[in-house]
Amino acid sequence: MPRVQRPDSYYEEIKRKFAAERDLRLAYRPEGTAQFTSDLDGSLARYAVDPYGGPVPPRAPIDDTVEVLFIGGGFSALLTSARLRERGVESIRIVERGADVGGTWYWNRYPGAACDVVAYDYLPLLDETGYVPTRHYAQAPEIFAYCQLIAQRYDLYGLGVFQTTVTSTVWNEEEQLWHLETDRGDHMRARFVICANGTLSKPKLSRIAGMEKFQGHSFHTSRWDYDYTGANLEKLKDKVVGIIGTGATAVQAVPGLGENAKELYVFQRTPSSIDVRDDWATDPEWAAKLQPGWQAKRRAKALADPVLSDERKARLTAESRDEKIQRQERENIDYMMRIHKRIEETVHDRVTAESLKPWYMFMCKRPCFHNDYLPTFNRPSVHLVDTHGQGITQITEKGPVFDGKQYELDLLIYATGFEVQKTGIYNRIIGRNGVDLEDKYRDGIRTLLGIHTQGFPNMFIMGGYQASFQFNLTDMLQTQGDHIAECIDYVRSNGFATIDPTVDAEEWWVQEVIRHRGKTSRNQECTPGYYNFEGESNRRQDGNYNGGFKQYFDHQGAVRARMAENFEFG
Ligand SMILES: Cc1cc2nc3c(=O)[nH]c(=O)nc-3n(C[C@H](O)[C@H](O)[C@H](O)COP(=O)(O)OP(=O)(O)OC[C@H]3O[C@@H](n4cnc5c(N)ncnc54)[C@H](O)[C@@H]3O)c2cc1C
Repeated sequence: MPRVQRPDSYYEEIKRKFAAERDLRLAYRPEGTAQFTSDLDGSLARYAVDPYGGPVPPRAPIDDTVEVLFIGGGFSALLTSARLRERGVESIRIVERGADVGGTWYWNRYPGAACDVVAYDYLPLLDETGYVPTRHYAQAPEIFAYCQLIAQRYDLYGLGVFQTTVTSTVWNEEEQLWHLETDRGDHMRARFVICANGTLSKPKLSRIAGMEKFQGHSFHTSRWDYDYTGANLEKLKDKVVGIIGTGATAVQAVPGLGENAKELYVFQRTPSSIDVRDDWATDPEWAAKLQPGWQAKRRAKALADPVLSDERKARLTAESRDEKIQRQERENIDYMMRIHKRIEETVHDRVTAESLKPWYMFMCKRPCFHNDYLPTFNRPSVHLVDTHGQGITQITEKGPVFDGKQYELDLLIYATGFEVQKTGIYNRIIGRNGVDLEDKYRDGIRTLLGIHTQGFPNMFIMGGYQASFQFNLTDMLQTQGDHIAECIDYVRSNGFATIDPTVDAEEWWVQEVIRHRGKTSRNQECTPGYYNFEGESNRRQDGNYNGGFKQYFDHQGAVRARMAENFEFG
């Protein structure tokens, strides 16, 4: 459909509003990411406790050596160990803080949890397992069960050491082994370590004055207390519930809460953008017709260059860089205004509808897709508390306070998200010459492909910074898993003991990351959120590689094609 032509002043005015809304939020929270804490100890320790795993069965400390050890048991570990198994690596261990495999899908059991990427693409290894997701967007219990199915199919359960957290990972140069300590008194050694600790797995809380004083019940969304809420939230019928946060998790949880709670207060700082969720049950006839290799074909499409008509190609080639930026910016604004229109058409109360409008460019925050979130605000028992950029700053024994008003709650739910893409959560990583990974990264993250980091031989990182940004994360994790499996296979089959990227190869990648970041000033112009480190002016290398997923995949292949140049082998 041809775009409606609007005057420059229309777009300029919206951009001014975007900037004003961003500045408001930056002024409220100049401390950036420090406004959150993920060190959940002391009075906050209960927010990190696993409510699903049950009592931790006693066991003797482990003191042994394996070939490959995964820290974390989510999709990254499942995918990569499956690939390693295919290459004949048998001595594998998966150490996981939770009581089962699944990672994200073990921890996130809040009502309404589901993937936001089409399940036929998001769930990996569908060709291999023969499984077809039951819905276009699978719900969390199905995804968790699928993780268990992968573990069973590849016989991975025997490799798992659960309810165990790796606390330190230290390289021993003499033995050419990693030594790992855990919170269960284990002393494990491994030739290769794969940091599969997740991009969003350590819960974080906003630092809100008085939060420890709250006398009602409270928990983080990734530690849902079904004993309190009831399996179908039926125990909330006589409860006044509050939820802090309106990001991707809250958008999925609020409809169920709104339907079941006596009263629901949604405390909002910045609204999410919410588009239609095109969900449906998988058509069994379609599923029956799928030919072997169907998912690989879909994945190949994600990696292929887009097919453009000759006319469009000619138009794009004729466009200058500035024209391209302006066109993309205007398309983006048009999209956000459609999101606004959807809110106006759905939410009856004008004030609430205005408050729910996101004033920032698409993709400044994680986009959401839901059909029931906005209508939930039409329920008389559901109240949006719009803090207009400020957020809740005080909690008393009765509940949050905003604008001098006390909100008395029985239950307060924190939908405040997770620490993002950090390598070595719960865990200290020490490489060659006693260098702490955090110290190495202090002056800027340095990796090759976001997977290898010089001075940390035989260590591989999954889902960390400097890897490609990909909306379907499992696509990206799968390429990393394949790359890692090939690297390990190369080391083993060539009789080497170690693999470590060269200083030059690492420097090349850092420069590639920098070259592709900040092509426009969009990141700084965004409203604060985890995509832009809450508005902190970060170094350009401290983020994802923005050169494109296909390019990232091609770079992986190119690096492997020149192993001798890119790595030092010991
Ligand atoms: C609610 C939610 C919804 C999401 N939806 C989507 C989606 O629709 N599409 C998409 O592409 N991505 C989505 N994601 C991102 C999701 O995290 C990835 O898709 C993927 O599941 C990551 O897999 P992983 O194995 O890398 O990490 P995780 O699944 O996070 O697993 C990492 C595991 O490591 C464990 N661990 C961490 N540190 C230690 C340690 N020191 N010792 C022992 N164990 C440790 C953790 O307990 C965790 O179980 C979502 C994330 C969340 C939180």
